[in-house]
Amino acid sequence: MDCVFCGIVAGRVPSTTVRDEDDVLAFRDIRPVAPTHVLIIPKRHIPSLADVGPDDWPVVFRALRVAKELAESLNLRAGYRIVANVGPEGGQTVGHLHWHLLAGRPMGWPPG
Ligand code: AMP
Ligand code: ZN
Repeated sequence: MDCVFCGIVAGRVPSTTVRDEDDVLAFRDIRPVAPTHVLIIPKRHIPSLADVGPDDWPVVFRALRVAKELAESLNLRAGYRIVANVGPEGGQTVGHLHWHLLAGRPMGWPPG
């Protein structure tokens, strides 16, 4: 399977790790759109939130816990945004479930 995030998990694709847990990995986005832009992924390949099955909820919970803990350890006291793009119309470009942790500038609403 040709999945860039599976490549990062396997160490085949270089990345800057921010947090490495048993089943969750966080690393810097290669094209940051905010001063802080971290991606949080389950290490297991799940294509998107739409594909999360009954056995996947524990890792979804742990990924969100990592996002919250990273916001604390990165001192994002002014606030932050967590985004999961789902499917083509949701703006998803990498088909491996991930959350964006964005911070360091005011966030607009509605998102584009
Ligand atoms: P999305 O558009 O929501 O699917 O987000 C995919 C994100 O992955 C984009 O923000 C890309 O910049 C990022 N990305 C793609 N390839 C890499 C990579 N090799 N290392 C880090 N981030 C990546
Ligand atoms: Zn993958």
